[in-house]
Amino acid sequence: MAVRIGKKAASLSDSLTLAIDARYKALVQAGEDAVSFGTGEPDFPTPAPICEAGIRSIRDGFTKYTPSSGIPELRKAVAAAIERDSGVRYAPGEVVVTSGAKQAVYEALAVLLDEGDEVLVPAPYWLSYPEMVRALGGVPVPVPCREEEGWRLRADAVDRAAGPRARVLVLNSPNNPTGAVLERSDLAEVAEVCRRRDLAVVSDEIYDRMVYDGARNTCFASLSEDARSRTVTVSGVSKTYAMTGWRIGWAAGPSAVMGPLGNLQSHLSSNAAAASQKAALAALTGDQAEVGSMVGKFDARRRLVTTLLNGIPGIRLAAPRGAFYVFVRVDGFYGKRKGVEGSVAFCEALLEERRVACVPGSAFGDDRYVRLSYATSEERIRKGIERIGLFVGGLS
Ligand code: PLP
Repeated sequence: MAVRIGKKAASLSDSLTLAIDARYKALVQAGEDAVSFGTGEPDFPTPAPICEAGIRSIRDGFTKYTPSSGIPELRKAVAAAIERDSGVRYAPGEVVVTSGAKQAVYEALAVLLDEGDEVLVPAPYWLSYPEMVRALGGVPVPVPCREEEGWRLRADAVDRAAGPRARVLVLNSPNNPTGAVLERSDLAEVAEVCRRRDLAVVSDEIYDRMVYDGARNTCFASLSEDARSRTVTVSGVSKTYAMTGWRIGWAAGPSAVMGPLGNLQSHLSSNAAAASQKAALAALTGDQAEVGSMVGKFDARRRLVTTLLNGIPGIRLAAPRGAFYVFVRVDGFYGKRKGVEGSVAFCEALLEERRVACVPGSAFGDDRYVRLSYATSEERIRKGIERIGLFVGGLS
């Protein structure tokens, strides 16, 4: 007899990207020269001084439980970094250190939602948001954004999507998967809708330092006192400092939210790994030159990827101004060959025929697109995009 799975868990989809990733890894294992644009993590190593701080803390015996919301000096450093970058002031007690930004988003939603509440999720979206909402018994409601409008989030679209059960708006700028950076003026209008509709905001700003062409991240909480009072700001060290495996993120917000969030975490996972907290402290308080150098490299790759993709007949995209992804419209190629009818089939055929891994847009709520991460070397980028050109050329 099969074990009965609860309704919430049964409604979760497995990661669409997993099958493609597994196939890519199998190809590499078999000695094939495959190229991956799939990965969501910087390809740079964690800077040495940060690693050293982690190693030192273990050698010093810092290997036990810490306060569950994080060591005081890290909470203080997070508050200082947010103030430096956005001007928003949080007391260290309004910061909870989590095991990655992902946990911070989940915990924020968990303390804000009741069963059946609706969560507005601008689309395309990072694939985990709707699944987290469902896992918590909420209902994700997409708010459509369009490439023709530079992926702007329009306040009237938020307003239209907000029904009587709408409780939370999830924001993610700079955005995964589009790379779009929302304008301060648009966000100010969105903040006004949130005030009028009494929506809480979970603002996932994990790519806040990865901005190009003069773009700047707008911390949603910096828009007004009202915005600050209804926002949980989420970020972490994973992307900025190439620390994905260390699992350190944070949530910062008004104490009315952060108290319950900290309580929840204390029963869920307790503190984030002790040595990782020390490493994150070194990252936030140390020399920031390495961040500038990594962002500079991403910027060069971003321009290269955009130029090369625009050289392929049938592909056209504007250079995104943030994160390390491009979201490329490929539905013009669907149906040119039998079986290649959607983004999953497109990615599968591309991997089988040309040994290039991309992520299907359907994972992010738009089947017309595929996502490429340019967190890989220029040499791999050139090779991979040349192969994409050959693949789509061979379809027509
Ligand atoms: N938020 C967004 C938008 C992401 O793209 C990712 C990782 O891909 C995360 C959060 C997860 O961050 P972390 O690894 O710190 O949990």
